[in-house]
Amino acid sequence: MTSADPIANLAMLIRCPSVTPAEGGALTALAAMLAPLGFTVERMTAREPGMPDIENLYARIGTGGPHLMFAGHTDVVPVGNEAAWTHAPFGAEVAGGEMFGRGAVDMKGGIACFVAAVARQIAKNGPPKGSLSFLITGDEEGPAVNGTIKLLQWAAERGERWDACLVGEPTNPDQLGDMIKIGRRGSVSGTITVHGVQGHAAYPHLADNAVRGVIALTDALMHPPFDAGTENFQPSNLEVTTIDVGNPATNVVPAQAIARFNIRFNDSWTAETVMAEIVRRLDAAARDERLRPGRPPLRYDIAWAERPSHVFLTRNDRLIASLSGAVEAVTGRAPKLSTTGGTSDARFIKDYCPVVEFGLVGQTMHMVDERVAIADLETLTVIYETFLQRWFGDARA
Ligand SMILES: [Zn+2]
Repeated sequence: MTSADPIANLAMLIRCPSVTPAEGGALTALAAMLAPLGFTVERMTAREPGMPDIENLYARIGTGGPHLMFAGHTDVVPVGNEAAWTHAPFGAEVAGGEMFGRGAVDMKGGIACFVAAVARQIAKNGPPKGSLSFLITGDEEGPAVNGTIKLLQWAAERGERWDACLVGEPTNPDQLGDMIKIGRRGSVSGTITVHGVQGHAAYPHLADNAVRGVIALTDALMHPPFDAGTENFQPSNLEVTTIDVGNPATNVVPAQAIARFNIRFNDSWTAETVMAEIVRRLDAAARDERLRPGRPPLRYDIAWAERPSHVFLTRNDRLIASLSGAVEAVTGRAPKLSTTGGTSDARFIKDYCPVVEFGLVGQTMHMVDERVAIADLETLTVIYETFLQRWFGDARA
């Protein structure tokens, strides 16, 4: 009964202190909402040497097609400075029309609303004409190794197939109805180590300053721009995130300098082509005689961070139109179809079925005093309900 109320659902979830990797009771609470609705709920614990075990949940109602997946996570980021919160981070207190708590928008709120939408639909129209499943991980905010990737593999090995997926991450910048995410940029990180020759600052010809080298290489990465953007994506962008030399002496030329960078790239690249372009730029700068008059090419190494995130764009009219139509029908505003922002677990799901993302307003996510407007919880629930009607309706036609 209570699972039709998103506010009660969210309060129950927030009161579970599920900071990654702790389950914190959140999946148990979710299971207790879904089982009475008729879902078969399964818990799957993922293990990896040297990493904490992670509990995940998969729940399904229905046996036939079409099959819609709702995906998300119950883990939350740490509270940070608890004294700075005006309401207890795991208290789910309501004040001034808002509910406070870690995970309120990212993304226990999205889960609470989707459960409520499903509960209302089942009460009104019976079980969905097809299948509906929840794929919920406890490892989205952490290393994401024992979460969505393994849960998808585990379910697929048991024969689970999906026609579409909605991820309930917070996607709206300012107001409910602003934005649906229909893709994400790719992301690659790397570390460059420049090898010079240590020496006296007054005798630079006897030394080879690694700082000069790292400046030349990082400049080559930042200029010129990688592209001007594409139809659905903003321009690719590389940021140098740190340069470390660690040299305490002003009269010593350092032998080594290390720079790290991250690039967010659009669909004019793949992870492989963007990495090749980065190496091409570094090699060109290392050999550029103007940067190193009379010296041999600069010596450097590059190490790539383990797993690149691949860029993707969802092109599924039925899925996008059902969701965007539902948002517009309820809020009166046509949501922007966007690919901005960071990566999400949608990058793993896209290998199994078309995926879009729509949830709450993201302004307070990961912040002290994370909170959600009570009115937004009700509105999002109605949007999700409308989406369910349209997607299953459309899918049957
Ligand atoms: Zn999230």
